Amino acid sequence: MAKILIIGGGVSGLSCGIYALLAGHSAVIVEKNAFPGGNLTGWDRRGFHIDNCVHWLCGTNPASEMYGVWRELGALGDIPVHIGESLFTCEYEGKRLSLYSDIERLRRDMLALSPEDRRETEKLIRAVRAVQGFCGIAGEGHNESSGPAARAAALPLLFRYYRLTAGELAEKFKSPLIRRFLTSFLTEKFGSLGLIFVMSDFCGHNAGVPRGGSTAMAERIASRFESLGGILLTGREAEKLKLKGNRAVSLMLGGGEELSADAFVLAADPAALFGKVIPAPMPAQIARMTEDRRLFRFSSWHCAFECGSEKLPFSGDFVIDLPENHRSFAAFGRIALREFSHEPGFAPPGKNIIQTLAFLDEAEARKLTALAADEEQYKKKKTELAEAAAEAIEKALPVLAGKLGAADVWTPATYSRYFGSEFGSYMSFAFSSRFLPRPAGCAVKGLSNVLLATQWQQPPGGLPIAASAGKRAAERADELLRRMSGADVGSKIAKAKLYPTESANIS
Ligand SMILES: Cc1cc2nc3c(=O)[nH]c(=O)nc-3n(C[C@H](O)[C@H](O)[C@H](O)COP(=O)(O)OP(=O)(O)OC[C@H]3O[C@@H](n4cnc5c(N)ncnc54)[C@H](O)[C@@H]3O)c2cc1C
Repeated sequence: MAKILIIGGGVSGLSCGIYALLAGHSAVIVEKNAFPGGNLTGWDRRGFHIDNCVHWLCGTNPASEMYGVWRELGALGDIPVHIGESLFTCEYEGKRLSLYSDIERLRRDMLALSPEDRRETEKLIRAVRAVQGFCGIAGEGHNESSGPAARAAALPLLFRYYRLTAGELAEKFKSPLIRRFLTSFLTEKFGSLGLIFVMSDFCGHNAGVPRGGSTAMAERIASRFESLGGILLTGREAEKLKLKGNRAVSLMLGGGEELSADAFVLAADPAALFGKVIPAPMPAQIARMTEDRRLFRFSSWHCAFECGSEKLPFSGDFVIDLPENHRSFAAFGRIALREFSHEPGFAPPGKNIIQTLAFLDEAEARKLTALAADEEQYKKKKTELAEAAAEAIEKALPVLAGKLGAADVWTPATYSRYFGSEFGSYMSFAFSSRFLPRPAGCAVKGLSNVLLATQWQQPPGGLPIAASAGKRAAERADELLRRMSGADVGSKIAKAKLYPTESANIS
C-alpha cells in the first residue's frame, strides 16, 4: 500500500485523500488548523452560528456531472439541499428584482419592469436556457440536456456573452434596476458568460446549499475520509519538504516531526507553499496566471449581526449600497446581506443572524492584510467597517433599525492568517470577457513524486473546482505509484464503484 501525504485539509486535499483511499492507497493529510475544511467553514459566536462559505454549491442537481463527485465525497447523499426562492435581490427606487429559481418568473418580472428591454431580456433568458441544455439541467424536471442541433444553434448566442463583461451587458439595458441586477452578484468586471452560468445553475436547481451549511459539509467530507481509513493530522503545519535529487522524501512539520511518503500532494494556495514549504519555484503556468492582467484576484471583508427580529424583510442575498461617505470600503461601493432563516439552528429562537459580504480588489485586500500587523489600527478599522455595514442595513431596511447587535467582523487578514492564502484571496483567478484561461496540470516540474491539487489550477476556482482538482491529483498519484511499483498503469479510481452505499437514490 503506497502512502500519499497531502498538505492541506481543505476540500481539494480531502477530495484527493478520499479518491486515493478508494484507489487502494493509504493517505495522510496534514492540516495547520485545528479543524478540517479550509475556507469551507463556520464558527459559533454568542449563541449564533456564522457560516463563512457555501451559499451556492454547483452540483446539487442529481442530473449534473458534479453531483456524483459530491456524493462520493460524502458531501451530499441523504442530506436535504436548500434551494431558496431567490439567490439574490437588488432594489432601486423602491422596486426590487430577484434572481428567482424559476427562470420564467425572472423573465416575467424583467419584462414587466422594462418593456423597452424586451429584446435583450429574451436573448438573456434564451442564453441561460441554452447553458442549462449544455449542462444537462434543462427542462421542467431540470434533468434534460439539449440535442446536438440545439447546442450548435446556441453557440453564436453564447459567443455574444463571452465577448461582453457584466458591465457591458448591463449597458445594453435601459432599466437602472436591471442594470444594477446584472452587475451585483459578480460585479461589473466579470465576463457576462460567468453570470449566465450562475443564472443557469441556480435556475436549473444545480446550486443549492446542503443543510447545515459549510461546517457540516466539511465535517461530512472529513469523516468520509477517516471512515475509509485516512489519517487526518490537524493542528500540524507543513514547514519544509525535503528533497533528494528530483524526488521528495519527507515533510518536516512545525515541532520537528518528520513524515515520509511515496508521493506528496500540495493542496493549499501555491503562493503560500512554493519558495517556502516547497524548495522550488511556482509551476510556470500558475506563475503566468498570477502575472496575467486578464486575470484578477480578490477577497472580501464581512460582518455578522445578531438580529432581534424573527421575520426579515428580505430572503436570500440582498445587495445594498454602503453609505455615501464609506463607498470606498468595498469594490463598487456595495455589500451583500445574507440571511439564514432556512437554518433554524444558526440563531436562538425568535432571532436571526445577518451576514454581510463586501468584495475588495487585490490592492485593497493587501492593505487590510498589512494593517493587521498593527493590532490597534486593525481593531479600529474593523469597528469602522461594522459601523458602515450597520448604517447601510438600517438605511436600506429601516424596520431593522435598533435590532442589530455586532457579532463578528472578519477580513482578508483572517483568511490569510488561518488558511495561509496570499492577501486572503480565497477563490482562484477571476476573469473578464473574451478570455477563457487554460487549466494548469497537476505535475510539478523537476519533482517526480510531487503533485498539485488546488483550485488555483483552474480559474475561477470554488468548491467544485477544488473537489475536481483533488480527484484528478489522486488519479495522477495512482498512475505514478503504480508505475513506480511496476504494476499495471490504469487508474483504479475510474473503475472504483461510485456511490458505494446509495446508488439506488440516483436517477
Ligand atoms: C466568503 C466565502 C464564500 C464562498 N462561497 C462559495 C460558494 O458559495 N460556492 C463555492 O463553490 N465556493 C465558495 N467559496 C470558495 C471556496 O471556499 C474555495 O474555493 C474552496 O474552499 C477552496 O478549497 P481548497 O481546499 O482548494 O483551499 P483552502 O480552503 O484554502 O484549503 C487549503 C487548506 O490548506 C491548509 N494549509 C495551508 N498551508 C498549510 C501548511 N503549510 N501546512 C498545513 N496546512 C496548510 C489551510 O489551513 C487550508 O485548510 C467561498 C469562499 C469564501 C471565503
